[in-house]
Amino acid sequence: TRIAVLRETADGERRVAATPETVKKFIALGATVAVETGAGEGASIADAAFSEAGAQIGDAATVVKDADIVLGVQGPTPGALSGAKAGAWLAAGLDPFAQRERVDAYAAAGVEALAMEFMPRITRAQSMDILSSQSNLAGYKAVIHAADAYGRAFPMMMTAAGTISAARVFVMGVGVAGLQAIATARRLGAQVSATDVRSATKEQIQSLGAKPIFVESVVGIEGEGAGGYATEMSDEYQKAQAELVSSHIAKQDIVITTALIPGRAAPRLVSDAQISSMKPGSVIFDLAVAQGGNVEGSVADQVVERHGVKIIGYANTPTHLAADASALFARNLYNFLSAFWDKEAGRPVLDEEIGDAVRLTQGGKVVHARLLGETA
Ligand code: NAD
Repeated sequence: TRIAVLRETADGERRVAATPETVKKFIALGATVAVETGAGEGASIADAAFSEAGAQIGDAATVVKDADIVLGVQGPTPGALSGAKAGAWLAAGLDPFAQRERVDAYAAAGVEALAMEFMPRITRAQSMDILSSQSNLAGYKAVIHAADAYGRAFPMMMTAAGTISAARVFVMGVGVAGLQAIATARRLGAQVSATDVRSATKEQIQSLGAKPIFVESVVGIEGEGAGGYATEMSDEYQKAQAELVSSHIAKQDIVITTALIPGRAAPRLVSDAQISSMKPGSVIFDLAVAQGGNVEGSVADQVVERHGVKIIGYANTPTHLAADASALFARNLYNFLSAFWDKEAGRPVLDEEIGDAVRLTQGGKVVHARLLGETA
């Protein structure tokens, strides 16, 4: 089996889908690995490190030629895959809803595209889950970046010249990124509170030493849908949530928003009126900015100043931690392919549960139920 690793071409993407560690492990399984020249540069991995691990280094066309499996962080242009074997696999983060035309082109090119973000949220797939590994780092980086943009300190400090009070940090959306944001803000000494629509997060918030802020007035809400993800909430709930958030947010110094709903635009959680109620110098980091944003007025990769409040968000937060993000992403891909490695066939053979969850295209067609509109 020949595995190709391409240099990422998307704007600002510094991650890479393999590391010397995973190259060695793939070779130990019996694969050959080819890595495009400069693929690791953004993640501080030299070509020499890849070749010492046993990879062949070459230009894109050479690397892809006769590949059985192409690995990517994001999906390459379909043209970049020409020369790969018929029916070659592409395993990457493929952003299937937003990149539907590209998915169609993969199908037309006879590529079997595997969307790593569709990995089911089941225990045995946890180590293969790129959303978790990347969100975790993103939650950390959001707090670091907000702390840097904030003109005050996070911890309470008692000095000879007087006391500095602790920053108040409010985390909205307590999934993987939100939990790491809470933990990071706590480590920096902030006073942290957090909210989510899934009531199961209340205990998790408390166990990290933060205060849960929850809508209690609307009964019968759970907010947890398929696969442990959030569902869209009723109008009544959204109204109650907006009121609760309004009174709380006015007292916060830092707000980190992380709320996502799979396959939909990010829910709007912070309005311009709420921003105007915050103290000047406050900072909001919108981790959902690339999915439409949780915060009114947020713009990807820009610092927007509204009412004296800085609103920040990156289009691609994990790329700002490219070395660690690549190491975890590469392990996710290795854990995925190696778990299904069939020694006799000398290649991975997916089972139905995970195969059907991630496979977008096969035999020249789009085959995924979520893309064909068969399921939500
Ligand atoms: P996500 O990135 O889809 O969303 C982030 C958070 O925003 C979620 O907690 C969500 O409930 C919340 N949210 C959505 N709408 C909101 C609103 N209007 N107001 C406030 N919050 C809102 O979530 P995620 O980080 O992918 O995690 C989702 C769940 O999946 C979690 O329970 C997580 O522990 C679980 N998970 C399981 C596995 C596994 O078992 N393999 C792997 C990863 C995550």
